[in-house]
Amino acid sequence: MSDKVREIPIRVLFVGGLGRSGSTLLERLLSELPGVCGIGEVVHLWQRGLVDDERCGCGAAFRQCPFWRNVGEAAFGGWVNFDVEEFRALKESIDRTRFVPALARATAADDTRRRVSAYDDVYRRLYEAVRNVSGCEVLVDSSKHISLAFCLRWSEAIDLRVVHVVRDPRAVAYSWSKTVVRPEAVAGSAEGTHMARWSPGKTALYWNVQNLGFGLLARRGVPTMRVRYEDFMRSPAATLREVAAFAGLGETVPLPLSGESAELGPNHQVAGNPLRFRTGRIELRVDDAWKSELGALRRYLVAGMTLPLLARYGYLPAGS
Ligand SMILES: [Zn+2]
Repeated sequence: MSDKVREIPIRVLFVGGLGRSGSTLLERLLSELPGVCGIGEVVHLWQRGLVDDERCGCGAAFRQCPFWRNVGEAAFGGWVNFDVEEFRALKESIDRTRFVPALARATAADDTRRRVSAYDDVYRRLYEAVRNVSGCEVLVDSSKHISLAFCLRWSEAIDLRVVHVVRDPRAVAYSWSKTVVRPEAVAGSAEGTHMARWSPGKTALYWNVQNLGFGLLARRGVPTMRVRYEDFMRSPAATLREVAAFAGLGETVPLPLSGESAELGPNHQVAGNPLRFRTGRIELRVDDAWKSELGALRRYLVAGMTLPLLARYGYLPAGS
C-alpha cells in the first residue's frame, strides 16, 4: 500500500442504530447518488458472505459476485488468503458491546489499542478495496452495531461519519415480533431461514443500548447526524439532501425520487433486510402498522422501558 493512498482517509457513512429502523432503505437510496457505494451490513460479510456464501444484493452467491470477488482480490489478494477463524477471534476480542466502555475512553490501554488497530486494519483494507473497485468516494456501511462504530473511530485511515437512524421503539418492537423469511439463506446458513425474532422487552432493551451508545459516540467527537425514520419517510428528498451534504457531496446531487416513490437500481449490499433484493419503483410511506397491530400491554411496556429517549427523540405527544 503506497503512502499516498494511506494519506486520503476513506469516507465511510456508517448507518447506526437498531435494526428495523429503515436503515436498508436509507442505504439503498443513498447508493443511487453519484459517487456513493452502499455495501450493506459489512459486520455480517465474514459469516454470511464468506463462510455461508449467502446471496449478495445483486442476486449472485457471495463467492460468485464479481464485485466482491474483485474487492477480495484488491484487499487480500483473494478471499482464499483471508483467515476467517483468525478474524473471528480478533472480532470476539474487541468488537463486542462489553468493550464499548474501554473503546469510549480518551486513551486506550496498550492491549486494547493493539487489538483495535489490528481489527480496524481489516476494515481499512476492505473499504479501500471497495473505493478502488467501485470508483466511489463515499461508502455506506449499514452495519449498525455500536461496538463496530466504536472500533472504527480509532482508525486514522477511516473518515467515519455516522448516520444515526432512530425509529419509534413501538414500531421497531412490532417489526422484531414478525416472522420474516430470509430469501438469501442457503442450506446450512448459520443465521437460519428466518430473520431473528425478539420479544418487545428485549427490543426495548437493545433499542436503549444502541441509541444511548450512538449518543455517546457523538459526544466523543465522531461526526454524527441523527435521522428519524418517520421524518425520512415523510420528507425523503429533504433527508437525502441533508445526508448528502453531511457526506460531503454537492448540494445539487440528483435524487432517485419522483413524488412519493423512488427508483432502486442494482446493488451489492452484502447483508441486510430482504429489501436488498428489490429493484425498480418503490412507494415511500411511513409503515405504522404497529398502531393497530401491537397490543396495548406491549405498547406500554416498550414505552415505559424507553421513556427518556422516547421523549428526547420527540415521540411523545406534547404534554403527555
Ligand atoms: Zn453482488
